[in-house]
Amino acid sequence: MLTSGIKRELTWIIGTLWLFLAFAWLTGWWYFASAGFVVFYIGRHLWSIRKFELWIQGHDIDAHPPTSGLWSELSYQVSKKQRALEKHADLNFYKSEQFKAASMLLPSAVVSIDQNNYIEWLNEPAMRMLGILRQDVGRRIEAVIRNPDFLDYLKGQDFQRSQTLTLDQSRIFECKIIEYFENHKLLIATDITELYQLAQIRRDFVANASHELRTPLTVLHGYLELMQEMPHDDHWNMPLEHMHNQTLRMRAIIEDLLTLSSIEADSITAEQELVDVPEILKHLKIEAGQLKSDRHSLYFDIDNAIRIKGFTEPLKSVFMNLISNAIRYSPDGGKIRARWYADAQGVHFSVSDEGLGIAPEHIPRLTERFYRVDKDRSRTTGGTGLGLAIVKHVLEKHESHLEVSSVIGKGSVFGCSFPIHRIVIEDEE
Ligand code: ADP
Repeated sequence: MLTSGIKRELTWIIGTLWLFLAFAWLTGWWYFASAGFVVFYIGRHLWSIRKFELWIQGHDIDAHPPTSGLWSELSYQVSKKQRALEKHADLNFYKSEQFKAASMLLPSAVVSIDQNNYIEWLNEPAMRMLGILRQDVGRRIEAVIRNPDFLDYLKGQDFQRSQTLTLDQSRIFECKIIEYFENHKLLIATDITELYQLAQIRRDFVANASHELRTPLTVLHGYLELMQEMPHDDHWNMPLEHMHNQTLRMRAIIEDLLTLSSIEADSITAEQELVDVPEILKHLKIEAGQLKSDRHSLYFDIDNAIRIKGFTEPLKSVFMNLISNAIRYSPDGGKIRARWYADAQGVHFSVSDEGLGIAPEHIPRLTERFYRVDKDRSRTTGGTGLGLAIVKHVLEKHESHLEVSSVIGKGSVFGCSFPIHRIVIEDEE
């Protein structure tokens, strides 16, 4: 099949050849006419190539594409392709401009960074909120946002989580990095100062109210103990006993509320220490022995060599809460097993029991404050309803979270895992 370029070329050759043949026939100069045709043909091609080159380079605005034979078809196809590409480029440009205009209207700061952390573009809120200048495009983000928490977040490469940053002394931002297209990153920062302040007011209120309740409760508790010891009618025994127990319960709730407030108020942002978890668990085993009834069996399976970086007292309350829950929600005769071990994924703590078990719909809500599966049982076993909320917050400070699996009537496993970088393995002496 002949393409239209070849057809045009053949038409030109045949047309021109006729002229030369007519000239040769009229003059009898056959040899001269043939040589003339070849020279003319080659010369025309060289001239067309030059014209085509000048046109395609586009330096000379008067340059036009060749208009005959194969070259005219080639020029036509090239300009057609060029028009299509320009249209495509226009569309892409329009889309990218549209995207940039939309990102300018976002209330959050958006900064795009390449695989080597160089700033590619940013929106207006990024300049206003994060203090990045337009001239910073092309600089490394680490040189522009020098906040240590941000640098750790960027270096840590754990972009599943977000990072709270305090910039400009007082503004609080929630930063999230999202990876996209060949290791490029999108940094999105949202100003959460107002939300944070509201939460702070709530935290302060709970902490202050709990604190204020402490003193009257201590007085009440003291008088009740005194009244129990003083001679009184027997029919007062029961009410006094009941009131005494309730003040103990209120005291436990207040202590737990204060613990929660202090964890939330970041009061454990101090230097992390080396936490001797095996030693803590050894003591908890003794304490748990006093908590359990004689018919509970306790097994502790502890790797004595594993310690972690963290906060000792808060972690102690995590382990204690989980172990005491296992005891409190297990009937007599139940086996309770606590484990502390490490593997390639990290270091793990778990407590399994053969207790009541928890229906699946309750599991996601267990760490809510005062959430109880069985309110009466929780109260009679002395629960405050805040234990697992404390566990959740402490674990968050240790890059961990509570994992629960449970089967009704068979028992539950409560556990948590700590990342490898927190592990400190010491040789057993
Ligand atoms: P509480 O002080 O009421 O025990 P927690 O926050 O420690 O509060 O626990 C919340 C609820 O989770 C408990 O009221 C109980 O219903 C349930 N729960 C916790 N641990 C267990 C367990 N090991 N087995 C069954 N239910 C449990």
